[in-house]
Amino acid sequence: MNREASIDRLKTESFDILVIGGGATGSGVALDAATRGLSVALVERDDFASGTSSRSTKLIHGGVRYLEQAVLKFDRSQFKLVRDALHERATLLKIAPHLARPLAILTPLYNRLEVPYYRTGLKLYDRLAGKASIRKSYFVGAKEALQKFPMLKKENLRGGVVYYDGQFDDARMNIGIAITASDEGAAVANHVEVIGLLKTNKKLSGAKLRDTLTNEEWEVRAKVIVNAAGPFGDAVRKLDDPKAAPLLTASSGTHIILEKNFSPPSTGLLIPKTEDGRVLFLLPWLGHTLVGTTDQPAPIEANPKPSQSDIEYILRQLQRYFALKVNEEHILASWTGLRPLVSNPKAADTARLSRDHVIHESDTGLVTIAGGKWTTYRKMGLDTVNHALQVGNLKPLRQSQTERRHIAGGAKFEAKAATLLGNRGKLESDIAIHLNHAYGDRAPEVVSIAIRGFAARLVPGHPFIEAEVIYGAKHESARTIVDILSRRTRLSFLDKNAALNAIPNVAKLLAEALGWNLKQVNAEIKSAQDYLS
Ligand code: FAD
Repeated sequence: MNREASIDRLKTESFDILVIGGGATGSGVALDAATRGLSVALVERDDFASGTSSRSTKLIHGGVRYLEQAVLKFDRSQFKLVRDALHERATLLKIAPHLARPLAILTPLYNRLEVPYYRTGLKLYDRLAGKASIRKSYFVGAKEALQKFPMLKKENLRGGVVYYDGQFDDARMNIGIAITASDEGAAVANHVEVIGLLKTNKKLSGAKLRDTLTNEEWEVRAKVIVNAAGPFGDAVRKLDDPKAAPLLTASSGTHIILEKNFSPPSTGLLIPKTEDGRVLFLLPWLGHTLVGTTDQPAPIEANPKPSQSDIEYILRQLQRYFALKVNEEHILASWTGLRPLVSNPKAADTARLSRDHVIHESDTGLVTIAGGKWTTYRKMGLDTVNHALQVGNLKPLRQSQTERRHIAGGAKFEAKAATLLGNRGKLESDIAIHLNHAYGDRAPEVVSIAIRGFAARLVPGHPFIEAEVIYGAKHESARTIVDILSRRTRLSFLDKNAALNAIPNVAKLLAEALGWNLKQVNAEIKSAQDYLS
């Protein structure tokens, strides 16, 4: 993926489809359209996954909670949602085996009456998955539950149900989807914003773009414009029609990261109802423990920050359900994400709003895709492109290929390749395993750079190495220090202080790769420090 080559194309070509927003949704739309042989452009005003798509719980799931709603309300459409998402879960595990894996999740049960309730519910989850099942759920007694999760509170523990979902690295998956779209011929550029929409005879015919790194502005022509701006979908709709009524609402979710010894390496934990009915996850993730909750109504803003009350809430739940001593000093990193939900102004509780996606077409032909979840990005892309074909009377060369097309790095991924990578690059095993999973069958290219003198860790104690900075700049369109520390590597999501310490070295490596002068280096360092702290 080459940002500058894509920008040249954005200045000279016209496209069948222009996609606004390089999160999971927009990247999925661009990939779907490109696999059909359409000419596609994708622009993202910040970085791929810089919005909600890097801030998720990192679960690929059918939605156990939505299943509960489906049963309680006999709601067929919710059943279908869960079944579709379970199908997508299986697809994602297949097309991105380097970035996604099955994860066992335990729900501890403290009330005898809960046991048949959750057992039956999770059996239904297995049944709905059908062929897409990962492994069957099962009940464990209190003793085994404590073996799996020694930090669970023993008093009144009746046992637990273990079920399976998928877990993934969301930002790297997002970048992988954008790279795959680029490999399929799409012009894909981050740090390019849509600042206006162009019309011909009252129908959309293009957009005004700005390179947010240089402030250069120009126009691009496209037959169909797809608005995949996530929580900012309504802001883009206002570029089309300043009077457009809002379609979206947002709910926020906060996560914190703790050391890995707060969770077992291979089992996550789900508390379905905390003190105020919200769900709490405690999951092993990238050698750490991720704890989080979702669904608080929230205003729409760029870069939302965790509030003190969010953090206190999570710590309080941890004290309540675990025999763990944990306080703010144990928190290595934290973040908040905004879930774009299709709004129903009458519903007060955002957890009850539909997770399904909605495709909206304006009078001028703007196709807005909104709602959904990470797990279903591929289906959302498919449905959106089907709609766009009609809007633009487009003639694709073939059907969508995304059900079979591996995400970049996935086609020839093998878990055992880590040993070879380690031997070739003389890398310690944690680094080799990390590179193998993060880059899949493209990891040898990163190792080739490491061998040329860039094998050092960015900071002690984390597997991210200097070669990734150079690879990120050359092949993954990383253009800022935060692009590297937050989304090419996940250092800032795992350990904020370590990320701050890595800034000078990343700046030096990026300066060489991108030709920054001293003034730029200093400005980039300042901007990264401000953002991360
Ligand atoms: P975004 O990722 O926000 O992308 C929209 C992009 O559009 C942004 O990058 C933005 O910069 C860009 N943009 C906006 N305006 C413009 C413009 N004018 N020009 C160019 N670009 C523009 N789903 C799951 O399946 N599993 C989970 O475990 C899970 N956990 C979640 C936890 C939390 C806390 C939250 C909030 C959500 C979670 N989700 C999960 C849902 C999932 O993360 C979202 O549905 C998904 O990431 C939304 O992606 P998106 O592309 O629509 O939005």
